[in-house]
Amino acid sequence: MKTRPAMVIIGAGQSGARAAQALRDNGWDGTITLLGNEGVAPYDRPPLSKAVLLGQKTTFECALYDEAFYREQRIDLRTDAAVRHIDRANRQVALQSGHSVDYHRLLIATGAAPRRLAMPGSTLPGVHCLRTVTDAQGIVGELSPGQRITIIGAGFIGLEIAATAIARGCKVVVIEAAARALMRAVPEIVAAYLVERHRQMGVEIRFAMQVDRIIGERRVTGVKLSDGTRIACDCVIAGIGVKPRTELAEAAGIDVADGIAVDDTLRTNDPHIFAAGDVCSFPHRLFRRRIRLECWKNAEDHARIVARNMLDRGETYSEVPWFWSDQYDMTIQIAGMPAFGVATTVREAGTASKIFFALDRDGVLVGASGVGHVSEIARDVRLAQALIARRACIEPALLADRSVKLKQMLTAEVS
Ligand SMILES: Cc1cc2nc3c(=O)[nH]c(=O)nc-3n(C[C@H](O)[C@H](O)[C@H](O)COP(=O)(O)OP(=O)(O)OC[C@H]3O[C@@H](n4cnc5c(N)ncnc54)[C@H](O)[C@@H]3O)c2cc1C
Repeated sequence: MKTRPAMVIIGAGQSGARAAQALRDNGWDGTITLLGNEGVAPYDRPPLSKAVLLGQKTTFECALYDEAFYREQRIDLRTDAAVRHIDRANRQVALQSGHSVDYHRLLIATGAAPRRLAMPGSTLPGVHCLRTVTDAQGIVGELSPGQRITIIGAGFIGLEIAATAIARGCKVVVIEAAARALMRAVPEIVAAYLVERHRQMGVEIRFAMQVDRIIGERRVTGVKLSDGTRIACDCVIAGIGVKPRTELAEAAGIDVADGIAVDDTLRTNDPHIFAAGDVCSFPHRLFRRRIRLECWKNAEDHARIVARNMLDRGETYSEVPWFWSDQYDMTIQIAGMPAFGVATTVREAGTASKIFFALDRDGVLVGASGVGHVSEIARDVRLAQALIARRACIEPALLADRSVKLKQMLTAEVS
């Protein structure tokens, strides 16, 4: 069945849905086709590891828009329309169902897939990962008081699940292969501060340790570590990172470099095809290198810009990255790319809050990580974001001195 040429979006996730809306908002009056493969309308993933696992929110309540929205905006949302192939020569995508859809411009917003455990026992019932509403529904039933949960991976997802499981009365062990937590995201001092809090809350965390196999016959009963130790548990949750879903792009000959390689307008090497969100890597003017982000705000911001560029506006993308995480009563807000820093300066930000500033080797502020109460860190992280956007060079002593307001530093930079 042939359809009229349209703005076609592969991936009915956060970036895909927001881009569909942005196309309408920016005046595209023709067909918008949003192709998904999860069987449900686009939804927000961040609550899955927080409010959903805590039982405070249903997965249904995570939907980005209600059904009426798609009807009113004339967005042809197809939630069981996995794309099998991109035919660039004929500007067409082929669906698993055998149907095809012609495109005027194509957006690939296929996100990222969780890395799966590849070891004996990893397919046993009771072994989970967390990316989708279905995954969350599978985990929520495991988190009852007294359950022993082993989490593999001390990244943001693993640590958020650890905090949630503790709040639900579980006993939690986290196993991390690296020497410390959050290796790719923040400097060691920030990770250590968070880990300390997890330990205070009763989480047992072991670093530099691999899980060799998952033990169990009909269901998981434990894990065996590389040093031979066995840990008995009722459930294993893997948070060992994600891989950008680039298969369609690669097969179609679109450039890939740790994600679909787009330019600073989010266009691929095919002028009719764009990519946005977790799936793409893009050159960032401030950091002078190609980066790929796995965060909510990036998916939102990309969607807004890519829609305009699908309408030939040619706008460049240079937002300062911003990420947040919630663990216990703490919020973590990160601006910029703290991992690109070579030195860290700490500012006390209140009763139990700190801001960690990351400076590169030229003394340029490249990241700020606020940890603590949202009311004590949010404003400073926002101001730091503006300073990062200006590639500000600020004396570490001033950054550490709570009496010197960041607002003053920003005013000095602007003038
Ligand atoms: C549990 C969890 C908690 C998170 N918490 C935070 C947080 O606290 N803060 C933060 O900043 N970020 C957080 N994130 C990250 C954030 O949710 C992601 O960065 C964001 O969802 C990325 O959006 P996206 O549109 O790029 O990808 P996705 O939302 O993953 O959407 C991609 C969609 O494309 C579909 N798809 C893939 N291949 C095909 C195909 N061939 N055909 C059709 N459809 C296809 C996928 O199934 C998926 O539905 C969290 C993520 C998870 C999983």
